[in-house]
Amino acid sequence: MVLDEPRRPLRAADLTVPAVGEGELLLEVAACGVCRTDLHVVDGELTEPKLPLVPGHQIVGRVVEGGERHAVGDRVGVPWLGWTCGVCRYCRSGRENLCDRASFTGYNRDGGYAELAVADERFCFPIPEGYPDLQAAPLLCAGLIGYRTLKLAGDAERLGIYGFGAAAHIVCQVARHQGRRVFAFTRASDAPTQRFALELGAEWAGDALGPAPEELDAALIFAPAGELVPAALRAVAKGGTVVCGGIHMSDIPSLPYELLWGERTLRSVANLTRADGEEFLALAPQVPVRTEIETFALEEAGDALDRLRTGSIRGAAVLVL
Ligand SMILES: [Zn+2]
Ligand SMILES: [Zn+2]
Repeated sequence: MVLDEPRRPLRAADLTVPAVGEGELLLEVAACGVCRTDLHVVDGELTEPKLPLVPGHQIVGRVVEGGERHAVGDRVGVPWLGWTCGVCRYCRSGRENLCDRASFTGYNRDGGYAELAVADERFCFPIPEGYPDLQAAPLLCAGLIGYRTLKLAGDAERLGIYGFGAAAHIVCQVARHQGRRVFAFTRASDAPTQRFALELGAEWAGDALGPAPEELDAALIFAPAGELVPAALRAVAKGGTVVCGGIHMSDIPSLPYELLWGERTLRSVANLTRADGEEFLALAPQVPVRTEIETFALEEAGDALDRLRTGSIRGAAVLVL
């Protein structure tokens, strides 16, 4: 499926087999997760996509050709971070997620909404055994970047999660495994999502813009709504941290300094490092993280994105090839 221009529907296309460069793998795609970031690309909120573009950055595929680290037939996962320069000050200090020249799968490079995909093998991960292809796909972004978001919350015991979609449903399981208490904040009227959060171990679920049931030590915001920032700052205790987990968010409303006062921290998460991926994919089977998915055929990618836009996916959407 191809994006010709932002804000245009994806188009089904017969593409030629992509060229495989040195150090790259040609993959037969088995599944590709649909991420909110794909929606930001398609909707033009991320403004510099390669065009035309094959979106998709949660690829589970099998190696057809190329590579030294992975053999033909191996199952690998391709995440959002597609390439980094290795020489800039960020890359040299273990922060390749911030690389100035990074390129991203399904944004600057063609992604996995296709039967075949090409990826730099240094940025591909082996998928833990025991995860079927479809259940593995959401681990590759919702899981990885969700996990990085959770790490940036430090050792917070009382954790608020704002927006309970694909990333949150994975992070909730990891946080419970780590012995944290989880509070899920959703749209006030969204009873199905609140029930879903409670089933996954949250001890409370309710209105994101209403009062929290008790003080939080940290809040993770996965919904792209700027008005959640003052709400989350209001909910965290002194010394608490609010982490914005998405790549795009609507404008944050003006807020009184007293919401930040008391050594509260407000920060964002950008992308992932390969170390995050290795750490999370080793941890996931131990929890064990179980992903809840809703499947779509490749040609239904546009429908999956529409459902994501309205917040009506339970867990994660995955395209099946
Ligand atoms: Zn770099
Ligand atoms: Zn993503």
